Amino acid sequence: MSRNEARVQAVSQIVNRKSKEVAMPEPLSKIWATDVFNLAKMEEALSKKAFKAVKTTVQTGAPLDPATADVVAAAMKDWALTKGVKFFSHIFYPMTNATAEKHDGFIITNSDGNQITEFTGSLLIKGEPDGSSFPNGSLRMTNAARGYTAWDPTSPAYIMHTDNGSTLMIPSVFMSWTGEALDKKIPLLRSNSAMNKAGQRVLSLMGESEIAALNSSCGAEQEYFLIDANFANSRPDLLLAGRTLFGAPPAKGQQFDDHYFAAIPERVQVFMQDLEDQLYRLGIPAKTHHNEVAPGQFEIAPYFEAANVASDHQQLLMTLLKLTAKRHGFVCLLHEKPFAGVNGSGKHVNWSVGNATQGNLLDPGNTPHENINFLLFCGAVIRGVHLYGPLLRAVIASASNDHRLGANEAPPAILSVYLGDQLERVFSDIKDGKLLTSEVGGFMDSGLSQILKFERDPGDRNRTSPFAFTGNRFEFRAVGSSASVSGPLVAMNTMLADSLNWIADQLETEIGAGSEQPEAAIKVLKTLMESHGNVVFGGDGYSSEWHRLAVEERGLKNLPTSADALPAFRDEAVIKLFSSTGVLTPVELESRFEVYSEQYLLSIEVEAKLVVDMATTMVYPAAVEYLSQISSTASSMAALNITLDSGVASSVAEQANAMMTAVATLSSALEVHEFDSTEEHMQYAAGTLRSLMDEVRSHADLLESLVADHLWPLPKYAEMLFIK
Ligand code: ADP
Ligand code: MG
Repeated sequence: MSRNEARVQAVSQIVNRKSKEVAMPEPLSKIWATDVFNLAKMEEALSKKAFKAVKTTVQTGAPLDPATADVVAAAMKDWALTKGVKFFSHIFYPMTNATAEKHDGFIITNSDGNQITEFTGSLLIKGEPDGSSFPNGSLRMTNAARGYTAWDPTSPAYIMHTDNGSTLMIPSVFMSWTGEALDKKIPLLRSNSAMNKAGQRVLSLMGESEIAALNSSCGAEQEYFLIDANFANSRPDLLLAGRTLFGAPPAKGQQFDDHYFAAIPERVQVFMQDLEDQLYRLGIPAKTHHNEVAPGQFEIAPYFEAANVASDHQQLLMTLLKLTAKRHGFVCLLHEKPFAGVNGSGKHVNWSVGNATQGNLLDPGNTPHENINFLLFCGAVIRGVHLYGPLLRAVIASASNDHRLGANEAPPAILSVYLGDQLERVFSDIKDGKLLTSEVGGFMDSGLSQILKFERDPGDRNRTSPFAFTGNRFEFRAVGSSASVSGPLVAMNTMLADSLNWIADQLETEIGAGSEQPEAAIKVLKTLMESHGNVVFGGDGYSSEWHRLAVEERGLKNLPTSADALPAFRDEAVIKLFSSTGVLTPVELESRFEVYSEQYLLSIEVEAKLVVDMATTMVYPAAVEYLSQISSTASSMAALNITLDSGVASSVAEQANAMMTAVATLSSALEVHEFDSTEEHMQYAAGTLRSLMDEVRSHADLLESLVADHLWPLPKYAEMLFIK
């Protein structure tokens, strides 16, 4: 007899698969941003005056007048029509991690019934999807459903192609009829402008005369898994929850470390290059790709861009990863922990702030101790992480990321800052009032005459830190792979704005009292480090010693689950942070708490129902079928006076019974709906539901190692991770 039909077919389809034909690659210069209506294209299409107005808006966020918007709309439409586009869509980012779009045709008809195309400034500026089904916390009742999308001229419009049609996509914000932010873009733009304002204050107090608008930047490294679609399609858990809810560990996993940075499998490389060509056409600067730690796991990292554009591009990248994978017969899993026992996926968000006059303000240069602007901005980050660590934990909270954080493959759920040796010394000297010099990196010498010497970085890397300084930026390493980068960027920009304002207030006092600027700055930083230096940690973030020390001696919070972390949105200090900086009103913030909590609960409930369903309808029947085969064989053998050892059958029966008992308990646990608060409900999901799911799984996974392979209905870990 053969193995389970679906699995056998899957393997044979993979083995007989013909590679997708890929056209000869075009040179980068020929495809770069061809599908983007960027400044270069506007310069060609617009009058000098109109172009200047748009460019100022794009670069500084200054308002655009309606007449210019009309001209831009006409030029955008003409450009799109020449490329065969018939539809346009405002694309927006609701409070979930999703991307949303509603398509409209350029077409209208005149009185003769002939088609003409229309696209005015007002159509460009404003759209009105019936967005009442988007989660909005309590911001809108469904009977007051009006929601508007509005063009964001600072993120360029672009064209998405399918095999037989193309659509013009217009990046937009999404707000309620009363003007509240219903999306992830509005807070990001507001946080950037709050950071700009506060940064301007500090820089001008430090005597800078010319100060251009400050902008935050983001470069996101995206990890993902690729598995053959034939396997994914026969696993309801992968299809509906994006992760395996069952699966015994394979004999070989990642223990050999033979996947990380290894040669990329050819089929995957073909996929990657196809993806990157599309990204280039869309003006997304894909720069790095490689194998990750787990078998079947990969990474792509575009070059950094302005945070708002990078965030839109990140959403688009996730969409294209999935679409392109499908075309190559793969399923792309963005879930943070698709497979138990092998590494999960994260998204490192590299973040910095800078402007055209002072440059990157988180670049220390060679002598950081003399670079006062850098010290102030870096100090501001340290203060921010210390004061708002729980908020940073909350913005990365999701049911899926909980599987990864603190699991010895990803940073712990405690927020600390890693500075590297050189900067740690500089800041501790400031605290001790003895700042004189900073160590330099020196040169790397391999001892081989044929290998050229090169400059060594002044600090090493620390993979165990959730928030690490990496040379000229901070890297927020605890963000989940499926998450929008917007939430983390909003939190970082806002905490920075708050700290820069605090610094500006202190500087005003010090300078007012007669201190010279650098002296005043060092004094302020000394006070800052005395209160907040505790958050700086250069050791092993994975160690249990740090977990103890962080909480008991440093007073930092350890918030292991989303149920523990999400209530941070309700902290007084966080409410005040967002309202004082003008980033989110208390009502807008509360609606985020409600939406994220609801998402969290829904994800766990969907998974729990799937566990019940799959255990009952797939795993149990396989176990029973195996028992029936064993017992009929045993009876036939008994007729021949041969006794079959009953050990395996007993174990199978025992595990199958225990599993169904756990399934019954989980089913009743799912019936509990009365809770005093959302917080209590989340704790119930994180504790009771999750542990019952684990209990069912433990029996099912044991059954997988007992039941005959040919009867097992679900593709196994080894098949999914290794067959490409
Ligand atoms: P790693 O060594 O962490 O794997 P990668 O080279 O894969 O680093 O990714 C680093 C990311 O950081 C890239 O997206 C890069 O463009 C980005 N980056 C570099 N400088 C900045 C900056 N000033 N602001 C934001 N991101 C930056
Ligand atoms: Mg990194």
